[in-house]
Amino acid sequence: MSQKILQCNNVCFSYHSLTGETHALTDISFNVHKGEFISIVGPSGCGKSTLLSLIAGLNTPESGEIILENPAETKIGYMLQQDHLLEWRTIYSNVLLGPEINNSLSKEKEELALRLLKDYGLYRFKDKKPAELSGGMKQRAALIRTMMMQPDLLLLDEPFSALDYQTRLMVSADIGHIIRQSGISTILVTHDLSEAISLSDRIIVLTKRPATIKKEIPVSLTILNDDPLAARNAPEFQKYFSILWKEVSDEYSTANQ
Ligand code: ADP
Ligand code: MG
Repeated sequence: MSQKILQCNNVCFSYHSLTGETHALTDISFNVHKGEFISIVGPSGCGKSTLLSLIAGLNTPESGEIILENPAETKIGYMLQQDHLLEWRTIYSNVLLGPEINNSLSKEKEELALRLLKDYGLYRFKDKKPAELSGGMKQRAALIRTMMMQPDLLLLDEPFSALDYQTRLMVSADIGHIIRQSGISTILVTHDLSEAISLSDRIIVLTKRPATIKKEIPVSLTILNDDPLAARNAPEFQKYFSILWKEVSDEYSTANQ
């Protein structure tokens, strides 16, 4: 196995407020290797976004540790469910927002933005406003904005859940393909089991809150997942779906009791 990029060791986290404590994560341990694509699934409210926010460094574990193997050289990209594009800016100036904010705007960054817009099929739309683009295109623009920071580790928090089903199939396959080609290590939070199977090297199933790891399922399909739509036709796909469905549905049924 290639080198590790991230280790989560026995991570615990609770939120504290005036009305009490919400225990979100218990004893979460897993590693991510360079170039690996990992999906995290689990019941709503179990602590998935909390886990990503800890990995992104926006919160600190209560106990346990999150170790980036090479913190000086590991840039983290974080993409949320909503595209969060600024409506009054063009797609091009939305894509340049990150470098603009951290004062790193340069000729190279502008060239990178134009290249990514070309690679991701949005060059023709660079001078349009977000409202003039389809949901899938906006999501792609949000991905380009994240990719502008040239991340080594990409965190995706349900990035496709605002899209309708057909768009979602296309966009998740499209973005999955782009990420595979770039070889960036990725952690995707998703509700969609088929999406997780078609995109991932490994799926982590969390229990209901406080989340702990229920199962890690390595995925190996005979149709390679750099084409996630084709990967859904792999003969093993249904077997993975059944295994995953069993793990997840157990959690949903106990979560609702
Ligand atoms: P998921 O992403 O799996 O749906 P979250 O990580 O967002 O779940 O939330 C886990 C639990 O922590 C939920 O019960 C949620 O209500 C609670 N929670 C999330 N953010 C906060 C916060 N800022 N303050 C207090 N409780 C929070
Ligand atoms: Mg969430």
